[in-house]
Amino acid sequence: MDARNQPEKAARPDAEEAPCGSGEPGLGRRGFSRIVANLTHELKTPLHSILAVVELLAAETDGPLTPEQKRQVEMIRRNGRNLLELIIDLLNFSRSESDPERLRFTSFQPRRLFEEVVDSVRPLASQNGITIESDLERLAEGFFSDRTVVRRIVGNLVGNAVKFSPDGGLVSVFAESLKDGALSFQIADSGIGIPPEIQSSIFTEFYQAEAGDARRFGGVGLGLSLVQRAVQLLGGSIEVKSEADRGSIFVVSIPSAEASVPKKKILVADEDESVCFTLSECFRTEHCLTVEITEQKALLSAIAHEKPDLIILGFREGSLSLLEQLRASAWGQEIPIIIMSALDSPAERSRAFELGASDFIVKPFNVGELRARVRGQLERSW
Ligand code: ADP
Repeated sequence: MDARNQPEKAARPDAEEAPCGSGEPGLGRRGFSRIVANLTHELKTPLHSILAVVELLAAETDGPLTPEQKRQVEMIRRNGRNLLELIIDLLNFSRSESDPERLRFTSFQPRRLFEEVVDSVRPLASQNGITIESDLERLAEGFFSDRTVVRRIVGNLVGNAVKFSPDGGLVSVFAESLKDGALSFQIADSGIGIPPEIQSSIFTEFYQAEAGDARRFGGVGLGLSLVQRAVQLLGGSIEVKSEADRGSIFVVSIPSAEASVPKKKILVADEDESVCFTLSECFRTEHCLTVEITEQKALLSAIAHEKPDLIILGFREGSLSLLEQLRASAWGQEIPIIIMSALDSPAERSRAFELGASDFIVKPFNVGELRARVRGQLERSW
């Protein structure tokens, strides 16, 4: 069986300065990881260029290839991709040791995340006649956690399920939202299985069940150790149920981080009540509280009282002078202020930025774009 793709690998936060057995006095675990991180980065860059050229060759942009040349190009491409996956594994691993990942909690659609992962492995699975079925019906609209980390966990487990399944096998992805807001999912495969006596070892760094596994399936034995750390980092749990030759099920539960992160407060100011309402609705699923102001004269006292984390000023007139006033006050200098204007006027836009606007958005606004811009401002101000 060919080495198979593994989508992504996860990272972890709890590295300690400890001897790594590298034989170099004074080089702690983090120092060693930093060297590996630099080295893998250096390897990745030229490999990307090689792969880009191979893609051009495969696309026959400079003329048709003979069948034999096509076979050779395909071989370079496949092995190049395998090599890139190994390098990415090592890079993620060393980064997680030397630069513990800072979690970034946001609200996201878990269903979309699972669909993305399944879509990303489907071409590879179908190449090998593997069916992927998913049941995502019991997922809620939103889940509050670190999307990147959750995606790496899911990507890694689904990638392994495909990788360790025989041709013609079946991979099932089942995910649901629990009553307490937690995300629970199971990734099952009909693959080679994991004998009970080694089930606890598979989460150890560089562990592979058989010495020949790396050659048979690809990988370096880092994926599951990173997955376990990532799950722990998010306060969740992971367990495996498996029988040799009968397949495996990885069961993961990740709590919502909603309670552990204070909600951000956004003050939306517009004389039009329906605009205020729409803006509040936009941020309802975004782990934000909103305060609506429709009268300009109430704005300053509302800000002093509510102490928002971000302000959106959408008054038809007067927003810029309010912005100027806010920026001139002692407490209004740092807070992100977004001007929302009905006019897409370059002069007004540049005046707004001159006066210290953090961003400028034109009505009618696109909800996705507005959320992304607000998120960006809030992250910057943390
Ligand atoms: P890698 O996939 O790079 O070898 P992992 O850390 O992801 O590393 O997995 C460690 C080992 O656990 C694998 O080499 C394999 O022996 C075993 N393993 C992981 N997932 C599965 C699976 N779905 N089915 C069977 N064995 C698995």
